[in-house]
Amino acid sequence: MSGNISTEEKCSVCKGKMLHDERRQGCYCLVHTKVAATRLFRVRFGRKINKRYHRYDLAYQFLMGLRYEKASGKLDVRDHLYPNPLGFRGIYTSPYGR
Ligand SMILES: [Zn+2]
Repeated sequence: MSGNISTEEKCSVCKGKMLHDERRQGCYCLVHTKVAATRLFRVRFGRKINKRYHRYDLAYQFLMGLRYEKASGKLDVRDHLYPNPLGFRGIYTSPYGR
């Protein structure tokens, strides 16, 4: 599968890195497996697409959309870059995207 979700949050117990666990639908500390990130998610897809979200479900939705577009050959990376070349620049000034 292409793309991934990461988080800038650190584990609240050990301040360690939290990694994406797609099966559990979230980002978790590898040591404290019940500690999950609650915000500050980032979707990366390929080299260019890199977008922040404050909710995991929205980030995951975006990632799945990209995978679908890629699988069906419709992915246009330009649609997902900052700033959006088609306009609506204001939307992308939010630190957390849409
Ligand atoms: Zn931890």
